Amino acid sequence: MSRVAIFAAEIKPLLDRMDAAEEIADQPNVPATPVTVRRGDGSLIYESPDVPHLTNEWERAAAQGAANHLTFQTVRDATRQEQRLVNRFITSPKGYPYVVQLMGPPVSIDENTRQLAASQALGILLILALATYGSALTARQALAPIDEIIRRGREIHGHDPGQRLEVEADTIELEQLVASMNAMLDRLEEPVHTAHRFAANVSHELQTPLAAMRFAIEAAQRSNRPAEKCQQIADDLLSEVDRLSTLVRDLRLLAIAGAGQLIGQPEPFDLGEVVQQCCEIARAVADSDNIAIDEQVLGGFIASGSALHLRRVILNLTDNAVRYSPQGSTVRVRMEWRHGIATIAVSDCGCGIRPEDRARIFEPFFRADRARARDTGGSGLGLAIADQIVRAHHGRITVESEPNAGSTFTIHVPAVAALAHSA
Ligand code: ADP
Repeated sequence: MSRVAIFAAEIKPLLDRMDAAEEIADQPNVPATPVTVRRGDGSLIYESPDVPHLTNEWERAAAQGAANHLTFQTVRDATRQEQRLVNRFITSPKGYPYVVQLMGPPVSIDENTRQLAASQALGILLILALATYGSALTARQALAPIDEIIRRGREIHGHDPGQRLEVEADTIELEQLVASMNAMLDRLEEPVHTAHRFAANVSHELQTPLAAMRFAIEAAQRSNRPAEKCQQIADDLLSEVDRLSTLVRDLRLLAIAGAGQLIGQPEPFDLGEVVQQCCEIARAVADSDNIAIDEQVLGGFIASGSALHLRRVILNLTDNAVRYSPQGSTVRVRMEWRHGIATIAVSDCGCGIRPEDRARIFEPFFRADRARARDTGGSGLGLAIADQIVRAHHGRITVESEPNAGSTFTIHVPAVAALAHSA
């Protein structure tokens, strides 16, 4: 209880007495600060000796405050000093209203309030500090896996691109972040692997003709070689040089196609005509193996791009079809046109391609049956180049095949019908 409340409770039984002022003055516990006791209408019945000299104005204000039931008041005393009043309303045992006024400088009167405010401010500060510390702690805990991801990412970037992030993610979002970063690293690494594989394949392919040439030259160096033997060595050397030249030319073509620079200026050309010419060439080659070329080709469909390059694709397909077909069989070449797309299908009844090889058939240097393909003299670049050329014509190439039954390679390219057809 505050001092004013204690004092009010002590003097309450004295209030109805005639000599109330003296009785109050005799109280042992009169507060140290100046105190007055008034009736409910504000009239003074007691003031402690230490009440400062009051001006009329001060007195009036104190009386008004008491009469109007104000709990706190600020008034000025005779020296113009600010004083605070705390008014405590009490009812005498007979039921009359009284007011006990405690006065003093604002600080001393409001000690309780000040202490309360101070403790509240301290509490708020403490809560703020705890909240700041707590949120910093939570943020640090939440960010720890991200720090770990950054650290591992730097390690991978700097030292070992083959490594993957192995971070313990405690939320689905972080788990997804780690998974997608690992997937991104896989994708980034894939071209590097492809380039390594490609370089290894190139050096391997170059090595074979170079070794054969070295062998031939060493044979020629040996003395006492008859003239006809030297001639044969020269022929062998020439064919190896041809093989090397073809390989280098194909590699260059693949590089140009990969860079998207295959067709500088697209030219219109009659696709059917190109296919017919290819069938003629294929027939000349196939004749010696007693293989027939059965052609159903439509003329008058105009494609745009490079006739020379598309010719190379079709020749590669017919060449393979003849190469992998048994003697006495037939290779079929069909051309159709629908909704602006021309399809050219080359089918054979040859050895076919196993399903697991079909997916890789357009990769550079891939040979389904290495030993046999090498015998046939192919470098394994033909279909990879064909794929790039068809893509450069905004088309695609597909394969269907059944082992030991045959294969069908189909080119799909945009083409428009010439006037004669559309009429
Ligand atoms: P290559 O110069 O070795 O023929 P390609 O890129 O043209 O290279 O063909 C790649 C591989 O695809 C061949 O080595 C062969 O194993 C397979 N292949 C291509 N065409 C056929 C076909 N018509 N029938 C069976 N296998 C084929």
